[in-house]
Amino acid sequence: GRQDGGIVINDDWPGYSLDLFNYPKHYSGDLECVYIPHGVIMDRTERLARNIMDDLGDHDTVVLCVLKAGYQFCADLVERIKTLSRNSDHTLPMSVNFIRLKSYVNDQSTEDLHIVGAEDLSFLTGKNVLIVEAIVDTGKTMKTLLKHVEAFRPKMIKVAGLLVKRVPNTSGCFPDYVGFEIPNHFVVGYALDYNEYFRDLNHICVISESGKQKYKI
Ligand code: 5GP
Repeated sequence: GRQDGGIVINDDWPGYSLDLFNYPKHYSGDLECVYIPHGVIMDRTERLARNIMDDLGDHDTVVLCVLKAGYQFCADLVERIKTLSRNSDHTLPMSVNFIRLKSYVNDQSTEDLHIVGAEDLSFLTGKNVLIVEAIVDTGKTMKTLLKHVEAFRPKMIKVAGLLVKRVPNTSGCFPDYVGFEIPNHFVVGYALDYNEYFRDLNHICVISESGKQKYKI
C-alpha cells in the first residue's frame, strides 16, 4: 500500500509556546505547549480524506466512530469526505455509527477494556467499514475492537487514526491511515481528554504536571 505512516513528529519537538495561540483561559497553567495546532490537524485531515476516497470511493461504507475521543476527528474527516463527494466524479456513500470504549483512568491505561453501546454490530456484515479513532498507543484498544468488528464479517475493514504513539506496539495493530506519529507524551485537546477535561480545547497540547495534579481523580 501507500508509504504514508503519517507526519512524523520527532522526540525533540518542543511544541509551540502557548502565548502564540488562543486557548480557553480556564486551562491556563494546565498545559505545557501547543503540540499540534488545530489548523495543521485540519490540513492533514483533508489529505487523509483524499487518501480514503482514493481507496474506498464508490463503495458504500460504514464509518464507525470510536467515542469519546474520536468524535471530533470523525466529524472533521467525514466533513472533508463529503466535500470531495460533492465536488468530484467519485463519491463515498457513508453511514455513520458510534461505538464507545473505555480503558483510561488518569493517564494510565487499565486492563479491563469494555465496549459500551452498539454491541450488536450486525449492520456491518458484508460492508466496507472505516473505523475512526483519535489515538493508538499500545494498540491494545485497536486490537480488541478489530476482533469485535471482525466477528460480524464485514467485507473490508480500514482504520483511520489521527495520532499514533511511537511506543513498542505489542498488538501488531497499526491504522491504515495515520495523521501524525508522535513521541510518547500524554496529549489532550481536539476531543482527547484527561479525566474528561480538555475536550473543549481545539489544539492538541501536552498537559503540564500541575494540570495532571489539578484534574487527577
Ligand atoms: P491503547 O489501547 O492503544 O494503548 O490506548 C488507546 C486509548 O488510550 C485511546 O483510545 C485513548 O482513549 C487513550 N490514550 C492513549 N494515549 C493517550 C493520550 O496521549 N491522551 C489521551 N487523552 N488519551 C490517550
